[in-house]
Amino acid sequence: MLSEIKLSQEELTLDIESFKPQENEAVNPRKTEQKIKKELKEFKKQCSSIEFNPLCSRENYLGNYDNYLKTALSHISALRKINLDLALLNNKLYEGVPDFTNKLQKGKKILLLDLDETLIHSDFSLEYINDKNIKYDKVIKFKERENEFEENYEDYYDMRRKKIRQSLFNEEKEYKVGIFVRNGAKTFLTEVSKYFEVGIFTASVKEYADAIIDYLDPNKNLIKFRLYRNNCININDKFFIKDLRIIQGVDIKDIILLDNSIYSFTTQLNNGILVNSFFNDKNDIELSNVYEYLINYLLKADDVRTINEQFFSFEKLLNDLSL
Ligand SMILES: [Mg+2]
Repeated sequence: MLSEIKLSQEELTLDIESFKPQENEAVNPRKTEQKIKKELKEFKKQCSSIEFNPLCSRENYLGNYDNYLKTALSHISALRKINLDLALLNNKLYEGVPDFTNKLQKGKKILLLDLDETLIHSDFSLEYINDKNIKYDKVIKFKERENEFEENYEDYYDMRRKKIRQSLFNEEKEYKVGIFVRNGAKTFLTEVSKYFEVGIFTASVKEYADAIIDYLDPNKNLIKFRLYRNNCININDKFFIKDLRIIQGVDIKDIILLDNSIYSFTTQLNNGILVNSFFNDKNDIELSNVYEYLINYLLKADDVRTINEQFFSFEKLLNDLSL
């Protein structure tokens, strides 16, 4: 009973003290905000030390796997020297990311799929799109408003420059894109969605990605959620890292990312399955191989990272490089 609980004077004092608001970051949002801004500035500064460019997706083709891995992993080794955890302080990274707490059946895994050169390939050039000899699977149109500018300015001139850029691009522009769908992509989506919680994780912008996803999944029953460029850690507008720690309520050992760019896996190499880039190869059988691997090895795995490392050895290769 409550009346039987006797506290000494010392305990009482301690108790009251602990309820006094402390002058710390937890109760001072402005101070926290300032600290985050400072940390993100520090992150940008560290990013500016990266002077090399990523390998383009054309480099990841069948027969060039070892070369691609070696060079890209040496880049990843350099990228990991940046404090990438600082990027996780950016609120934009979490916009639209589902929280799976108590929502996933126990043991069900999340399968994230990249879009460009993994499920489809797009031609933006009107020269190609108007060429009657090229048979696209689909030509899609989408509108994009380029106004995603952050509201923190270095100085007055920086503010002016960004405002002008913003006004120049603030009109909606319509784009036309010719799409090649990777062999078996639609069947692949139908089949994997029976076993996995499937989401798209693309480094492309929302307007473009939505138009393609709506085409691939017109009834909106296969792909459960969509993550875009703003959900990626952006390094100098060149590297887009898909850090899986932004996804809440699910153990990272149960998340798989399928991508044609190994840079996407930078922070969690072992969650990744790397596919060679798709452009328009009618003999491509990559998705059917991936499907077999997913069902036979990852579906029932305790930890997808252990199995992936056994097959692909990305972490081991990275370690060997830095020895
Ligand atoms: Mg891609």
